[in-house]
Amino acid sequence: MFHPIRIPFSVSSSVGALPRFVFVYLIASPDTLMLIDTGVAGSEMPIFEKVRQIGRKPTEISTVILTHAHPDHIGAAKVIQESTDCTIVAHASDRAWIENPDRQARERPIPGFSNLVGGTVTVDQVLKDGDIIELGDGFSLEVIHTPGHSPGSICLFLLPDRDLFSGDAVPVTGDLPIYDDPITSMQSINRLRKLEHIRSLLPSWNEPSEGKAAYQALDDGLEYLHQVHGVVKKIVTENPSLNLKELTEEVLIEIGLPAEIANPMVTRSVLAHIRAMEKT
Ligand SMILES: [Zn+2]
Repeated sequence: MFHPIRIPFSVSSSVGALPRFVFVYLIASPDTLMLIDTGVAGSEMPIFEKVRQIGRKPTEISTVILTHAHPDHIGAAKVIQESTDCTIVAHASDRAWIENPDRQARERPIPGFSNLVGGTVTVDQVLKDGDIIELGDGFSLEVIHTPGHSPGSICLFLLPDRDLFSGDAVPVTGDLPIYDDPITSMQSINRLRKLEHIRSLLPSWNEPSEGKAAYQALDDGLEYLHQVHGVVKKIVTENPSLNLKELTEEVLIEIGLPAEIANPMVTRSVLAHIRAMEKT
């Protein structure tokens, strides 16, 4: 029913290119092909290759569902839409950044942003929590709004198989903490944990996991958010005079990551933790 496509790419940092990867998922029902996310610019090549491998044609792709607006998810959307005439769907709260990548780059600077996104697309249809996307043959995707990583982040629950495509909603222990609102993120993960009988968890930036391991990955993501929150709180309290760069580096060291990989995305997360502390 679905096919994971693992797409390697790199993000610039002060210590050189950091290797990363993103999973795109191809949903293949007898009636249609859909994509969950599109990877970075250029990802149409491995995506179309996978489509041909399973004996289908790229022009059969009818819909691209974007789990959120970040560049490693929307990067190849324009080329895919031009090649297939597919419909682009996403949550309203990430629409502005999907449709205006320049604005996204200004408001959430990422080193090398322009290399990651291959053009602008229009969101043809807006999704909201609880929407059902019919796949035919008795299958469907339920939209679950899971804000936190970004305001319009969504997960997609494949029914009746109970496979959960989680985008970037669940942070990965030991990876860069990247989100807009840690408290909202915790609430979203808690909601996912209440889903019964998840068969597999299919994230964008981590390996898939099944059954108990899927629930463990949700628990671990939640625990990591709490850990980073505690670390930011401790460092801010003990060293109130640190500037933002120093604070970001100290947080990374404390959670076991090298200070050199600090970047504006991590600083954004640290600021989000501080805002959350001020609210509580
Ligand atoms: Zn993201």
